[in-house]
Amino acid sequence: MKTKPTRQGASTVCVHAGTWLDPATGGACSPIYTSTAYAYPNATHENIYPRYFNAPNQQVINRKLAALEQAEAAIVFGSGMAAISTLILSCLKPGDHAVFQTDLYGGTHQFVTRELQRLGVRVSWGANTAELEAAVLPDTRLIYVESPSNPLLRCVDLEAIAALGKRLGVMTVIDNTFATPINQNPIPLGIDVVVHSATKYLNGHSDVNAGVVAGAASLIDRVRESALNLGGMLDAQACAQLERGLKTLALRVQRHNENGLALAQFLATHPAVARVNYPGLPGHPDHAVAARQMRGFGGMLSIELREPNRVQDLLKRLRLVLPALSLGGVESLVCVPARTSHRQMTPEQRRSAGISDGLVRVSVGIEDLEDLVHDFDQALAGG
Ligand SMILES: *Cc1c(COP(=O)(O)O)cnc(C)c1O
Repeated sequence: MKTKPTRQGASTVCVHAGTWLDPATGGACSPIYTSTAYAYPNATHENIYPRYFNAPNQQVINRKLAALEQAEAAIVFGSGMAAISTLILSCLKPGDHAVFQTDLYGGTHQFVTRELQRLGVRVSWGANTAELEAAVLPDTRLIYVESPSNPLLRCVDLEAIAALGKRLGVMTVIDNTFATPINQNPIPLGIDVVVHSATKYLNGHSDVNAGVVAGAASLIDRVRESALNLGGMLDAQACAQLERGLKTLALRVQRHNENGLALAQFLATHPAVARVNYPGLPGHPDHAVAARQMRGFGGMLSIELREPNRVQDLLKRLRLVLPALSLGGVESLVCVPARTSHRQMTPEQRRSAGISDGLVRVSVGIEDLEDLVHDFDQALAGG
């Protein structure tokens, strides 16, 4: 007889974890509870209210994400930035010091430089594990990383970051949006907290804004105390849409991984492409780290064109792949970081960050690989 596995597989967790079983009907799907008023006292003696982050459809997402990230608890928000800002504000006070990775999502970078520093939090930056460690001070409260990062897909060694945090007693946080819990589980590697923009792969269909924080139950309790004051909740309808997206997360990510690797390999051989940044390619500077801590390399890549002035031409000629800012959906998208996410930087800052004018970021969707290869091939051939 086969023994029962100790942990359900990721696909099973995606489909089943957290479902709000409805004894009234026996339905297979969580009902959508749209009420913003709930009678009290009730069975749990807790006032239920969506902005208290405890409504039924929010709890479904919380349980599913905790299971997927192998965390004790999780809490869903109305956007990735609501999750990130609430987490950081709940952990830091004026005078505290925090260390952030240099390659940050643009919105997080703005939050740190425009809001956090205004509130009197001192901030240092580091590009890699050694620089992050060097930036830590006696009163550092938080180390925050993104891996793989945008748009060069650099990866930091999560076990090294976790060990550093544990040794110095500093909380470690990762934005796991690009990897998803299917490809990377930072919490079993020792990282304390995972945040996500659920707008991207978790929902996966480019039609819901949401965010998640996952970690120890005591931390999530503290985050929730701040969250109900800051108010960035997700409503029941959107929670139900996100739950539906999450059921196919493992299946979608498997296809994103296959298409991402194959398209990266194709583009690496294309004469119009000078360079492909994809952690699954052996030539990527962080390939060894990525191979150690990731189960798949994901659907995000970037390419550098040999002739930067051909970027607009490429965007115009693509027929299937849409030039658009977001990522992580079923449809393939491209964007030009120098003109979008990194437009605020000076050309000099962009150069030192490795963001050239000829850099194009690709969010590889789940279409048929042959169609994607053909679209890039015909668009790159034009001139
Ligand atoms: C999009 C994104 C965010 C912000 O998420 P929103 O849902 O847009 O608020 C944060 N981190 C990363 C890596 C992202 O890609």
